[in-house]
Amino acid sequence: MISKKAQEIPPFIVMDVLEKAQELERSGERVIHMEVGEPDFDTPECVNEACYRAICDGKTHYTHSLGLVELREAIAEDYWKKYNVAVSPDRILIASGTSPALLLVFSALLEPSDEVILPNPYYPCYPNIIRYIDGSPVFVDVLEEEGFQYLPEMIEEKIGPRVKGIMINSPANPTGNVMGSERMAKIAGLSPFIISDEIYHGLVYEGKAHSILEFTDDAFVINGFSKLYAMTGWRLGYVIAPAEFVRPMQKLQQNLFISASSFAQWGALAGLKNAEKDVQRMRETYDQRRRFLIPRLRELGFGIKVEPTGAFYVLANAKHYSGDSYGFAFDILKEAKVGLAPGIDFGSNAEGYLRVSYANSLENIKEGTDRLEKYLERYKR
Ligand code: PMP
Repeated sequence: MISKKAQEIPPFIVMDVLEKAQELERSGERVIHMEVGEPDFDTPECVNEACYRAICDGKTHYTHSLGLVELREAIAEDYWKKYNVAVSPDRILIASGTSPALLLVFSALLEPSDEVILPNPYYPCYPNIIRYIDGSPVFVDVLEEEGFQYLPEMIEEKIGPRVKGIMINSPANPTGNVMGSERMAKIAGLSPFIISDEIYHGLVYEGKAHSILEFTDDAFVINGFSKLYAMTGWRLGYVIAPAEFVRPMQKLQQNLFISASSFAQWGALAGLKNAEKDVQRMRETYDQRRRFLIPRLRELGFGIKVEPTGAFYVLANAKHYSGDSYGFAFDILKEAKVGLAPGIDFGSNAEGYLRVSYANSLENIKEGTDRLEKYLERYKR
């Protein structure tokens, strides 16, 4: 009775860890959450105020299916200011989160059996969404010593007649690493469309993240407000697409979602215009935590070959302790009451790793790593 697709789509394992942690909390335990990929900050006040004002002013109706023109203009301006790339607001579609934006892009791009190249490890929803619309992910194993970044020649080896797209994500989930401009330029020169998930842009602590649009127009940019503006619950993202894809994606949007939330869009507009100070404060706080966490994890025996400089994750090599990241993460949760994401959630090539999120206070991160230290003593006996 239940469709094959619904039965076959895998769960997001990190949500299983979170739900188990919440079960422990209901029984009175205090769990330190370092599994979730969600800012611990509240949304900036200027965003909230613009949203209340929009609601009070009756801006509670459907918007244009591509999104408010004011917001699309502000996004175009943002890409111009940050990357010096000229994007027409007509090429932007506002979606109800980056996740629906991914669904729209893959739906507009792929015929059944068409392929998209992904790095392994990857953000789990990429292959799940691709398979859901009958496409086929093709994985390129990326190497820890390369900071889990693609070697462009390894992508080239996989490019066949059915490959329609190459997915990139910098700064990356789950590795926290940022792709250098030379590598990105080389990938941009490969022939299929590039789909660049830029949702962690702005959360970079050393150097600079580059947009794919600096190197090619044959690309889809996926971005959103969840991470940089601490707006996960607002459900707002966007796509910058090659012009010929806008109308097809707009038709998909009209049928599947109609438009993104009107007042959330007014809030996001205020974020783009006025939240720079809040963003800077959050960025500095993440960086302080990152600087504490990396050496502390190394001290505990985890391997980190290339220091992550973006997003809020460290993909720590735990092979020294266990080759079964799923069992290891659940045991740590049970024994030490620390939530961590098992590497296997992010692909076979991340087995033996744990993703540690520093979207939690420094105080909690200190306590979480102290608990881990105690837990790991059993391996020293
Ligand atoms: N892409 C990546 C790489 C992510 O980490 C996330 C959130 N975990 C998303 C997309 C989805 O973000 P949202 O739907 O909240 O915009």
